[in-house]
Amino acid sequence: MRLLIVEDEQKLALSIKKALEAERYAVDVAFDGEEGYEKATVESYDVLILDVGLPKINGFELTEKLRQEEVKTPIIFLTARDLSRDKVKGLDIGGDDYLVKPFDFEELLARLRALLRRGSPSQAQPVLQLDTLVLDPATQRVTRTGKILNLTPKEYALVELFLRHPHQVLTKTQLIEHVWDSQIDPLSGVADVYIGYVRAKIDKAFPGQKQLLKTLKGRGYTLTDELEKKP
Ligand code: CA
Repeated sequence: MRLLIVEDEQKLALSIKKALEAERYAVDVAFDGEEGYEKATVESYDVLILDVGLPKINGFELTEKLRQEEVKTPIIFLTARDLSRDKVKGLDIGGDDYLVKPFDFEELLARLRALLRRGSPSQAQPVLQLDTLVLDPATQRVTRTGKILNLTPKEYALVELFLRHPHQVLTKTQLIEHVWDSQIDPLSGVADVYIGYVRAKIDKAFPGQKQLLKTLKGRGYTLTDELEKKP
């Protein structure tokens, strides 16, 4: 799941980012409304977390602009204002939820989960499976032949991405965009390193099973249980 935080208090923004990444979200940050607008219209996110008091374009204006452009991503406002007319306004113009600063991080997590649950039917979180590899988004548990795999947050995010796009070729850039954030250079070796970790845990640890994660030289990676087509 990929999130965007738009918050001008940089320390706060980065600490939320760090905490959410520990919960297996991929997180981008923008420090003003304009940058937030650009990111939210160009990239695709599962939830936007918007501060209301932002430089250049405030959080309410930003929401109105995004909704006018048919960006329907769920929005949570973060704000120091707890006036009820502000809350009502935020929800009226197309926001989905509201947290008053200082907020409890656990509450933010609970609200994120609730928003993701009531999102589109595709986010209803069915169990993902390919061959004997199974991922349950509700429990965040990954198993192979019924054995629980011990994955780090990034490894989990990679497996989830592949299982959501089985048999498709995913480029290194796509992996970086969905699992890391836009700060990481796609040319850096980070994706290859993590592919190695994931392959060791899902395939090499199960030598009697089909080896699912394949490298397609010069193109990317694919998770598939189909035999390679001979050229
Ligand atoms: Ca602010």
